[in-house]
Amino acid sequence: MAETLISPDHRPVAVKASGPIRLVGLGRKEIAQHLTDLGEELRIEPKKVRMRTKQIFHWIYNYGVTDWDQMTNIAKPMREKLAQYFSLERPEIVERLVSEDGTRKYLIRMSPGVEVETVFIPDVSKTGALCVSSQVGCTLTCKFCHTGTQRLVRNLTPAEIVLQVIIARDDLGEWPTTQENRKLTNIVFMGMGEPLYNTQAVGDSLDTICDPEGLGIGRRRITVSTSGVVPEIGPMGERTSAMLAISLHAANDELREQIMPINRKYPLKDLMQACRDYPGLSNSKRITFEYVMLKGINDQPWHAKQLIKLLKGIPAKVNLIPFNPWPGTDYECSDWETIEAFADQVNRAGYASPIRTPRGRDIFAACGQLKSESEKKRASDIRKDVRASEELS
Ligand code: SAH
Ligand code: SF4
Repeated sequence: MAETLISPDHRPVAVKASGPIRLVGLGRKEIAQHLTDLGEELRIEPKKVRMRTKQIFHWIYNYGVTDWDQMTNIAKPMREKLAQYFSLERPEIVERLVSEDGTRKYLIRMSPGVEVETVFIPDVSKTGALCVSSQVGCTLTCKFCHTGTQRLVRNLTPAEIVLQVIIARDDLGEWPTTQENRKLTNIVFMGMGEPLYNTQAVGDSLDTICDPEGLGIGRRRITVSTSGVVPEIGPMGERTSAMLAISLHAANDELREQIMPINRKYPLKDLMQACRDYPGLSNSKRITFEYVMLKGINDQPWHAKQLIKLLKGIPAKVNLIPFNPWPGTDYECSDWETIEAFADQVNRAGYASPIRTPRGRDIFAACGQLKSESEKKRASDIRKDVRASEELS
């Protein structure tokens, strides 16, 4: 087969060395570039590249096709040629866990040694959020976060971010995009890694995720969460128009430095200024401040008072996250009454302050718990239990 893949002028083509090029995950520009590069072999005239790109993009991202023959508005000979050079394959799902509460967790192998976790969290209402990873590991070392104990393996590419959405859509059976009552309605960058240390890939991935002819998720349904990489906050907002979430967790520099070392580089004063300047900020486009409840550390009434003062004048909502313990952590989750009292205090000051319900605990799908070896072992035991109970029911 290799011979047939040598171009007429004996120029070896990419497919010979590394196999077909995976188009799934790529943006319009990249698809067009590949079609241009292989234009001669594929017999696509330069003036037809745009039209072909549009067709292929629509089939991949609106219909989720996995077979070239499903692209019925492309003639068979052309489909055969495309199939020779390009693939519609998904990366391997190494592990798939489904929680009793409907939360789904996927471990996806993007390339050898590069495994990424993605979690789908259905809401009680009709919506559901996919929690995507932007990096494998993290360079930051927030003390309460399990990802923070792992070194950075590498940044994910835009395609690898998009593929997380594709895999969830496949699994949920949510093709085509135009299907009514899809559950995967929102995307949150709250998986592994710091998205603002990979802004280019996050921005490019969103161009595909939000494309109305593709995955069609509105930009207001995208939330990018950051630990506070101040210089990137404004540019990210300009580039993506996404909603912003700040992992705050403490409202004074001394405590925040202790639990989030990035605060030494970008203290609260600068962080809050970047929030005030966030593009498009308004009462209908509020910033979410995430606040993980750590027993005896940041959960007292005076902490809430400081928080209220810090947020003054910013259209904000506070998400209180019960701490998810992981093996080896020094922290504990605050008592439920303490969390409720904290929530009431913040609420009385005029800020919505929902307490995030822990989801997918039985499959270790919680934030800050992604991809840990010890946990995986335990999770695989639990999976057996879940399977057993599924079989029983
Ligand atoms: N790096 C980004 C996004 C990934 S973390 C950030 O820090 O914002 C997503 C959210 O999970 C953050 O708010 C983070 O602080 C929180 N988190 C991390 N570990 C946690 C844990 N063990 N329990 C609860 N929330 C945690
Ligand atoms: Fe990295 Fe976010 Fe975890 Fe901090 S909380 S270590 S920034 S993933």
